[in-house]
Amino acid sequence: MNAALPLAPAAPLTTASMPPETWHRYAAANLPRYTSYPTAPHFGPLDEAEWRSWLGAIQPADKLSLYLHIPFCRALCWYCGCHTSVTRNQERLARYATALRQEAWTLAAALPAHAGVSYLHLGGGTPTALGAKHLAEVLGTLRAAFPFRPDAELAIELDPRMIDPAMAEALAGAGITRASLGVQDISPAVQARIGRVQSEASVAEAVAALRANGIKAINLDIMYGLPGQGIAEVEATARFAAALGADRVAVFGYAHVPWMKPHQKAIPEASLPDSEARLAQSAAAEAVLLAAGYVAIGLDHFALPGDSMARAAAQGRLHRNFQGYTTDDAPVLLGLGASSIARLPGGFGQNEPDERRYLERVEARQLPIARGRSLTAEDQARAALIEQAMCGEPIDLGAIPPGIMESASPRLTRLIADGLVRIEAGRLVSDPRHRPLLRHFAACFDAYLGQGPARHSKAV
Ligand code: SF4
Repeated sequence: MNAALPLAPAAPLTTASMPPETWHRYAAANLPRYTSYPTAPHFGPLDEAEWRSWLGAIQPADKLSLYLHIPFCRALCWYCGCHTSVTRNQERLARYATALRQEAWTLAAALPAHAGVSYLHLGGGTPTALGAKHLAEVLGTLRAAFPFRPDAELAIELDPRMIDPAMAEALAGAGITRASLGVQDISPAVQARIGRVQSEASVAEAVAALRANGIKAINLDIMYGLPGQGIAEVEATARFAAALGADRVAVFGYAHVPWMKPHQKAIPEASLPDSEARLAQSAAAEAVLLAAGYVAIGLDHFALPGDSMARAAAQGRLHRNFQGYTTDDAPVLLGLGASSIARLPGGFGQNEPDERRYLERVEARQLPIARGRSLTAEDQARAALIEQAMCGEPIDLGAIPPGIMESASPRLTRLIADGLVRIEAGRLVSDPRHRPLLRHFAACFDAYLGQGPARHSKAV
């Protein structure tokens, strides 16, 4: 243990309960979701030559993870926080698909020897908005441009309203192994208030079609904190997800950030549950899923005990990246598509978020990098601690560099005094009963918190 630690707690640390007003003060705090560190608002301009030099430092033993961003949807859901736009323009979709394929070749040519692709994630937006033909062509090009490892996982985010047996067959044919479907809430009244209407039957049929075609790994995303939601709606939705036998269920709190996502103004702030109600909803979803046999993971995920994420969490191999919690352990994450973010050992890089500029640069055979951030040794050490904290893993006090410990101490001391974190056998251990507040534990190690223009969503 670090002898300089100003961390001796004044009270027993094993008490998990705390006064409700204390809990709600933590829950109402605005903090990053820590899908990266430093977080994206701290990125700055990055030129292609520097990005290429970082790519050149990839080692032969490094596995690759690929993320493809497909920023199109058929309609805009009012709660959406993603980088997407609505289109059915076939020319626009075809040009984007062609650009993705070109970017794959340009990127592959910029890489030194590596250990192949172990993980691919297609996100958006709605990846199937490209259409089955373009999607298959893009995946075919990726396989030609990058060697895929035999055990690679190929995951895709899906809108159940766009999955019929033909699309399910096309996805399976393209090698997809895991699908994440957005459910949000099954109540028609809530669906009407978030601009996303989909029947329970459409979700069940999409899941059945995927399984029938061999895509057995199914994730469902549900939400709390939506307008018009109460405990009964959240419980019914969690029961629905469990009854479908989803391997993983993510329970996301709606993040109302209309200053960043103006379409969220369609959801009146006054219609949203307060932090007390959000906590009760989050707890209700958790109770249903735990009773159904799921294992709680990190801030907001649940998995059946046999699922690879449950095994990774049990073995301390859970990770967190821009897609949230993941089993992906590749040291190199490459992003393709407008606005996608890559993570290399040397730093982060984000592609042009503007579709037109992205297309022009890719068509000129450039790597369309726009912003990024190099990582100092201290950034990397803090990032590792933040990832451990967000994954709910104990942190060895002796492994925390003294300078980081010094800056973390005031916040940590408060968390310990309030029972969110305790010291046990020389390790900082977060109380699993307060897992929705894990962002506070992570924030202890964030040197940039409160700096710059970033505004964040509430912790719960
Ligand atoms: S389908 Fe998903 S990405 Fe598209 S608008 Fe709805 S929530 Fe956003």
